[in-house]
Amino acid sequence: MIDQTPLLALDGITKRFGQPVDLAHRLLNKFGANHADQYVYAVNDVSVQVASKEVVGLVGESGCGKSTLGRLAVGLLKPDAGTRFWRGENLDKMTEAEQRKVRLSVQMIFQDPYASLNPRMRAVDTVTEAPIQHGLLAAREKKTFAQSLFAKVGLAPEMMERYPHQFSGGQRSRLGIARALAVNPEFLVCDEAVAALDVSIQAQVLNLFMQLRADLDLTYLFISHDLGVVRHLADRVVIMYLGRVVEEGTGAEIFARANHPYTQALLSEMPVIRLERKTYHPVAGEIPSPMHPPSGCHFHPRCPHAMPRCAEQAPVLREIAPGHRSSCHLNDSQ
Ligand code: SF4
Repeated sequence: MIDQTPLLALDGITKRFGQPVDLAHRLLNKFGANHADQYVYAVNDVSVQVASKEVVGLVGESGCGKSTLGRLAVGLLKPDAGTRFWRGENLDKMTEAEQRKVRLSVQMIFQDPYASLNPRMRAVDTVTEAPIQHGLLAAREKKTFAQSLFAKVGLAPEMMERYPHQFSGGQRSRLGIARALAVNPEFLVCDEAVAALDVSIQAQVLNLFMQLRADLDLTYLFISHDLGVVRHLADRVVIMYLGRVVEEGTGAEIFARANHPYTQALLSEMPVIRLERKTYHPVAGEIPSPMHPPSGCHFHPRCPHAMPRCAEQAPVLREIAPGHRSSCHLNDSQ
């Protein structure tokens, strides 16, 4: 029987940042002032599931909460509400030892590997530090281990003795990937992992991700502002806007039959690659401040189909076709 339990499930996750009213303002409130808690809901009641060996693309403009969701998925942040499940087990109810094991299984790859690499550490130490620390590797075997990791990510073995500044952008990305792979993860959360690279290098690194998926049976949550980047890798695509999921479906379904006006806008503005130049046209209209999101459907001030109801009532994310969910009032009449 096939195990249908997702590898990772985020259920009703909410994460807010900000400040509750301090003591002085609480006292002033007693005398009639009206100071309220100031919160930004970076992620608001989001549920996402990722099956084992699946690639899920998480897409949205900057500030939509996708990076926060990635950090919640790897355990760098704790949710304020909702539950995270790993292989069906509630992560927050696991013992510390079990949680540590999960943290090793889920690794994050960042947009700017340079910022996340220690400039004073040679590449060989960068990729072997974590496995030695976690008792997965004996220090005397680090060179052989690093060599095999370098081969996996397409770096020449002689680069092991170099420092991060001696690598090109694409090579540094590969080094970041090697470091993540060093602890034998099952799940990689890639946060804008190719956004800082030139188009031709981007394609090479995306190919490497796909090669590693095939070789190592990896699962990915691939976070990007660019639908074009996830187009060729994602089995499923989740679209976020101002902290909420607005559409979700298989890659084939989303690219052939996008339902939500925001997804349609992202698709129509998808970067066009002409020779080496890549032009990116953002979706029309300003991204509203997450401090004061628009009422009802958060997208209504930018939506060409907005109706009076859209400003009053938040649409519900519901199934519009098998495996395809969207949150738009336009679907209510269908
Ligand atoms: Fe546009 Fe209304 Fe649908 Fe929101 S609910 S996407 S404003 S039509």
